Amino acid sequence: MPNASGNSWELTGLDRLPRGVDLLHDPLKNQGTAFSQKERDALGLQGLLPPRIMSQDTQKLRIMENFAHKPNDLEKYVFLIDLEDRNETLFYRVIMDNLESMMPIIYTPTVGKACQLYGHLFRRPRGLFISAEHQGRIEEVLCNWPNRDVRVIVVTDGERILGLGDLGANGMGIPVGKVTLYTACGGIHPGATLPVMMDVGTDNVQLLNDPLYIGLPQHRLRGEPYDELMDEFISAVQNRFPNALIQFEDFANVNAFRLLSKYRDRACVFNDDIQGTAAVGLAGLYSAMKITKTRLKDQKILFCGAGEAGIGIASLAVTAMMDEGLAMEDAYHHCWFFDVDGLIVQGRANLADYHIPFAHPHPPINCFLDAVEEIRPNVIIGASGHSRLFTRPIVELMANINERPVIFALSNPTSKAECTVEEAYTWSQGRAIFASGSPFEPVIHNGRTFIPSQINNAYVFPGVGLGVVLSGSQHVTDQMFLAAAKILANQVNQREMDQGQLFPPIAKIRSVSAAIAVAVIQLAQEQGLARNPVPENLLEYVEQKMYVPNYKRYA
Ligand code: NAD
Repeated sequence: MPNASGNSWELTGLDRLPRGVDLLHDPLKNQGTAFSQKERDALGLQGLLPPRIMSQDTQKLRIMENFAHKPNDLEKYVFLIDLEDRNETLFYRVIMDNLESMMPIIYTPTVGKACQLYGHLFRRPRGLFISAEHQGRIEEVLCNWPNRDVRVIVVTDGERILGLGDLGANGMGIPVGKVTLYTACGGIHPGATLPVMMDVGTDNVQLLNDPLYIGLPQHRLRGEPYDELMDEFISAVQNRFPNALIQFEDFANVNAFRLLSKYRDRACVFNDDIQGTAAVGLAGLYSAMKITKTRLKDQKILFCGAGEAGIGIASLAVTAMMDEGLAMEDAYHHCWFFDVDGLIVQGRANLADYHIPFAHPHPPINCFLDAVEEIRPNVIIGASGHSRLFTRPIVELMANINERPVIFALSNPTSKAECTVEEAYTWSQGRAIFASGSPFEPVIHNGRTFIPSQINNAYVFPGVGLGVVLSGSQHVTDQMFLAAAKILANQVNQREMDQGQLFPPIAKIRSVSAAIAVAVIQLAQEQGLARNPVPENLLEYVEQKMYVPNYKRYA
């Protein structure tokens, strides 16, 4: 990939260069001890820095040394965020050169713990906190953000943070982490990203009673006032940042499905928990089908959990099965759901609109083992937010029904997974095709090493975002996620699959993102959504645009 300067974004307003202490306190432009003698003279830095000039590589050495000495992952997280606050270029250099080991620190699982303790760890704010008290002046608040040319916004209201529930304003750690991945994995310039917390209160009593809680100390806004606030937010973004893509993140499903269907044709939005997860989950299924030498349309899939992740994957799987020639109704019949109230069947009480197409005629079943016995699926996908639901009898039954049972345990963080990788392989005598939501260490079973697959959303959303931003697409479509799933599955090779991997190594994620961005740009063009012209040599164009954390010389 070309080693571009990383500043080919030409973002309005970012070219202004502060001097002296102000420059050292500007994390996007600060280079610390790497400022040259000429720059120190020209920018009023003489005396403000120790005399020895260091290369970025030497600075990285110091960071890695300190990082290694941190006693636990949470301390490592805090250390990295502090670095991001001082010198973003160096932060991204460190992250991108060590993506595989850093991703679990800056994102799941460590970010979950960081969110739970956000108020206690709080040092400097990152991103924008828009609260219910800002109603009527949200655009004014957006104008306080120093960067004028925002292209990607990740917004949450903190109600369903990973599998940890309502963390209110503490959920800000998630958009902060996600925009980091947009830059590290998708090459979006960090100055073009904006994390947003829509603080509408929290119903988490423990937080409400915590004197160090950083959010509005009130119960959640619901109903019309909530909807009005979201409406105002979307309009304000469209006015202030007309080129921005909005990613909804970790909203509870009472709002997630509603907000997505309300805004998907009116604005440039998507929901990563629904659509991003769907694409990565579907890619995992495509890879699994390569191993079992079957097709998606031949599978029966039973989901444990009928929320955003499960319904998202199933909906995209239906589109993919139709792509393989099934009629829509038949495709729906290949997907079954079991949730907190049992098997989702026609006529069951309390079904949401999004459950209806998956509610098939069947007597009720209240036990997941019985559901597996009855439905006899080829694939089970756990997206319940509850640990240990895939018990030994269930995995053994799956291994009786299938030569290669496909078992995805997606709940996050690691402690919430429906089963561990070790359990899946041991209970299926090493025959399971396994993927999880959070990373697991490799396991040895009967002398064979298995490298577990992680359904990591970072494989897809950064590339989709990059494609949407570069094409200027007006909307984000399901076809873009279907294309992303196919591309991702095609990037894994036979050797990787032999070790149990359904996805390429994280180290390849930038080239995966580039390939996805190319497909998204082409689709935006074909679907008449692109506002920007499509250049020739599209892959080269995309790669050249991707941010690289090299220092820019100012003098
Ligand atoms: P959600 O709140 O929208 O849905 C949870 C669903 O689980 C609901 O349908 C609920 O009825 C069901 N459920 C709860 N307890 C259950 C039980 N005991 N048995 C069966 N079903 C039960 O949540 P979501 O957004 O769909 O996320 C679910 C989990 O998936 C979370 O832990 C989340 O972190 C994880 N997730 C993983 C990925 C990934 O792997 N990339 C992506 C998104 C979400």
